[in-house]
Amino acid sequence: MSLQPVRGMRDLLGEELDRQKHIVKTAEEIATLYNYESIETPIVEYTSVFKRTLGETSDIVGKEMYTFSDRNNESMTLRPEGTASVIRAIISEKLTQTLPQKRIYSGPMFRYERPQKGRYRQFYQLGVEYLGQDSPFADVECIALADHILKTLGIVDYKINLNTLGDMESRQSYKGALIKYFSKYENDLSEDSQSRLHRNPLRILDSKDENDQKISANTPKFEAYLSSESKAFFETVLNGLNILKIDFELNPHLVRGLDYYCHTAFEFKTTSLGAQDALGGGGRYDGLMQQMGGPSIPGVGWAVGLDRLALLLPEFQTKPSLRIAVIPIGDELELEAIRLTQELRLKGFTSEIFLKGNLGKRFRQADKALCNIAVVFGSDELAQKKVKVRKLQSVEIETNKETFVDSSQLISHLSSLI
Ligand code: AMP
Repeated sequence: MSLQPVRGMRDLLGEELDRQKHIVKTAEEIATLYNYESIETPIVEYTSVFKRTLGETSDIVGKEMYTFSDRNNESMTLRPEGTASVIRAIISEKLTQTLPQKRIYSGPMFRYERPQKGRYRQFYQLGVEYLGQDSPFADVECIALADHILKTLGIVDYKINLNTLGDMESRQSYKGALIKYFSKYENDLSEDSQSRLHRNPLRILDSKDENDQKISANTPKFEAYLSSESKAFFETVLNGLNILKIDFELNPHLVRGLDYYCHTAFEFKTTSLGAQDALGGGGRYDGLMQQMGGPSIPGVGWAVGLDRLALLLPEFQTKPSLRIAVIPIGDELELEAIRLTQELRLKGFTSEIFLKGNLGKRFRQADKALCNIAVVFGSDELAQKKVKVRKLQSVEIETNKETFVDSSQLISHLSSLI
């Protein structure tokens, strides 16, 4: 039996976990300002939820899904992304009756990818979905929310890449033009791109293959195929971002990997993480809900990768707080120590009890446990209804090295140290 976690999956603990939690908490607080409510969907869905929506030619459906048959021989999939599940939930819960719906979610996602730094098979995303609003201002607001969150977290090294994928008709006519163009170079394209040529030629535009990129450099421009409505929609998005003073760069090769996007597509790119340069991305997906069997309700949203954001988070300071070590001297005082420790915890102080070993050893244990104050008492102190409050580590807490405090004043004394 292997005692290692599954390849590409890892235990989260220590600072990395603290960072992820801090990001989620900050994002949720900010999203509340934009009227978002939380949603949590199951980690497992019927495979059709993803297969029907993400597109057969997408990398996710093609080669990355964790799909298995359950005991009833039904095909199940560990969610590879959040949008399809959230839309499924909005339909299942009949929330389409109360629009708009603004939802924020976070949690683990699963993709069978080649693991490397910043890329895992179980990774974590936080995302938002804004449903029931077809105005381009919803796209602007969505991007503004992501920008607000990243800036509040102190993440500065990112650029917003922006593109339009137009409406269905524009995309269809552009696809035709791309197939015609790429067909001339069919034998020179990478294997992946060749297989996409007729089914999803847009994806060739964001191929990572160098030769594909060379061939893509001279493709016909989408602009020539955009309907006037699509152009107007995109113009409004650009004007909105400008008025909010949100910086962005136009990137005509940004198509996103999934079939469900239309109009606005965006990605947050960093130069700090090497090959894994995408912090997150999203876009508009007006046809998705209907494609899943629900009513025709427009939507826009994004997801960011928490693993990658955690790597970029600047040194983050936890507030200095008291961590109290309770140290009784004498076996007969253990019960009193347990009582006092619980009282401290009930009053909101982080406390730990140290019972075994000589005093020096227990102070060292308390230091190791990052306690900064020790409350020490023997039978003499107890008889006088006093305790000794001793500073353990020089960090953060301003107090005398050692003071005697009346037991009845202990809580207010400790409160005064914060
Ligand atoms: P996507 O849905 O592919 O656009 O992913 C959105 C974000 O999730 C990406 O920009 C990454 O930050 C993150 N992400 C996607 N796949 C992985 C992965 N395998 N490991 C870690 N983060 C990922």
